[in-house]
Amino acid sequence: MKALVFEKGGIGDLRVVDLERPSPGRGEVLVRVAMAGVNPIDYATATRLSAIATPKPHIPGSEFAGVVEAVGEGVEGLEPGDRVVVYNRVFDASCDMCLAGQEMLCRRGGLVGLHTNGGFAEYAVVPARNVFKIGEALSWELAASLPIAALTSYHALRRAGAGPGDLVVVVGAGGNTGMFAVQLAKIMGATVVAISRKPWVKELGADYVASLDKAREVVEEASGGRMADIVVDPLGSETLPTSLSLLGANGRLVTFGVLTGQEVRVDFRALYQAQHSIIGSTGGTRRELLDLIGMAGRGLLKVRTWRTYPLEGSIEALEKLFAKERDGRIFIKP
Ligand SMILES: [Zn+2]
Repeated sequence: MKALVFEKGGIGDLRVVDLERPSPGRGEVLVRVAMAGVNPIDYATATRLSAIATPKPHIPGSEFAGVVEAVGEGVEGLEPGDRVVVYNRVFDASCDMCLAGQEMLCRRGGLVGLHTNGGFAEYAVVPARNVFKIGEALSWELAASLPIAALTSYHALRRAGAGPGDLVVVVGAGGNTGMFAVQLAKIMGATVVAISRKPWVKELGADYVASLDKAREVVEEASGGRMADIVVDPLGSETLPTSLSLLGANGRLVTFGVLTGQEVRVDFRALYQAQHSIIGSTGGTRRELLDLIGMAGRGLLKVRTWRTYPLEGSIEALEKLFAKERDGRIFIKP
């Protein structure tokens, strides 16, 4: 099978090669990858995190969907031909976190595509407990956006307690996670201010769209001066000071990424006096992925695609992740 691999790491070390097709072991499933989403984690796997990536040579790709090709011994409820999406946390299903339904915090956990081979290949082997069936109506682009883009946003909004009547600000609303944060906050009953330069963000259901430098006045107007209940900011140092300044009384800032830097000064007096909370969030649970599969199946979610590359174009796909002209999601279609 064809696969994108690296040995030492670094973009220059990536190449598409022919490998032997893997076979599923006991409790595992072989998935023919139909579509893989490209995310910052994949770039990090191939570069910053390459030393910890296993096995080697390593196939990155942490977000993908496809068709079951074969099932290993002991697998029930899945058969060849099933359309599936892959939950991307490696988890043991037996530690205290897993038993509490928090697989992304598994004590012996990891990430599919980093701690195992991923989906930038024609086939991938994954544990059956990571595989969820999806309906015929779901597009492969949307299916391949549920495990990271949608799930990360959904879990973050749930961690922040988003609900009817909340004013939710989404920073980076045109990004992979941002486009789903806007849609999901609307589904959860919130009023949404999308911070983005992309006009199409409005089509995702945002009530207001503003650039970062206009955020304050738009949030003031949208909230009648009360400011935001929740700000979702996955961007980091460059936007966090503004994001914190948008919070109203009892406001919650939720973060799950630091693309622009991981350090920021926080005025803790302002924080406690207005009872602000800063909430960390990572990935999501299998239960939440099931919720999203349900919502997608009912036609409640959509994804904006910018470019779809064949495996041979995966290096460009990874590099274009950070291109100014990017205007929607990037996919790899093996
Ligand atoms: Zn566990």
